Amino acid sequence: MPELPEVECVLRGLEKSLAGERIESVKVLREQSIACPSAKSFAKLVPGRVFSDFVRRGKYLLMSFDDGSGLACHLRMSGALVVKTKEEEKDKHLRVLFKMQSGKELHFEDMRVFGRLWFVKSSTKFQEVIPALNKMGPEPLTDLTHNYLQEKLATRSQSIKAALLDQELIAGIGNIYADEVLFLTGVHPQTRASDLSTAKLKKLVENIRFVLEQAIVAGGSSIRDYKDSFGVNGNYQNEALVYGRVGLSCTKCERKIERVKLAGRSAHFCPRCQRR
Ligand SMILES: [Zn+2]
Repeated sequence: MPELPEVECVLRGLEKSLAGERIESVKVLREQSIACPSAKSFAKLVPGRVFSDFVRRGKYLLMSFDDGSGLACHLRMSGALVVKTKEEEKDKHLRVLFKMQSGKELHFEDMRVFGRLWFVKSSTKFQEVIPALNKMGPEPLTDLTHNYLQEKLATRSQSIKAALLDQELIAGIGNIYADEVLFLTGVHPQTRASDLSTAKLKKLVENIRFVLEQAIVAGGSSIRDYKDSFGVNGNYQNEALVYGRVGLSCTKCERKIERVKLAGRSAHFCPRCQRR
């Protein structure tokens, strides 16, 4: 599943390729991919608009047009927004096709069809159409502080790993980066969220920033078929310290990396560097 760094990479790529581009036509090949309004209205309302601003909030891509209306996208499990030329071969999981006046094309590809697109009128804010945006926690790269975490986690009996995955606590962190952050902080994923000391929380916030920024630089992770807006796979998985490394040696102490089931996902950790 694309997480914050992958979505950020997609967004930056789209901004480079599409800012100032006017959409000529829209073809919806799978109605389910359009969350709002109806697929029919979407195909009618979007053409003629010009891409202007590109913002990420959590894992949502929020693209504004120059008339104040906008296009939002959540990639979910397997969605991808890829800029192509009309000569390029179409992916068999192409769900929505945007043709630009310039000849460029924006392809929304989505094998599992969990990804969604929204069109928002100029008089409407993204939050009014996507309620999850209102409940979302602070952006980890810019707005997250250890004071905020301390206050929020004080009453939480859940594990720190489950807490990190909660989008209402912090926006955009998913399974891969949560495991990496906890390893660097030396915290076992099953530690009670309320048990982390102030010093550990400070370290945690620093490591969240560090890991996410590193991943953005690496172009995201390519685990589960992620690709950016140029159709290129990321490289972060080659740099992962614990994620996907079960049975391999810890890079710090050489103990074997282990995995436990937690909050319906798997958590990867080093039993020596991350003692409970
Ligand atoms: Zn270790």
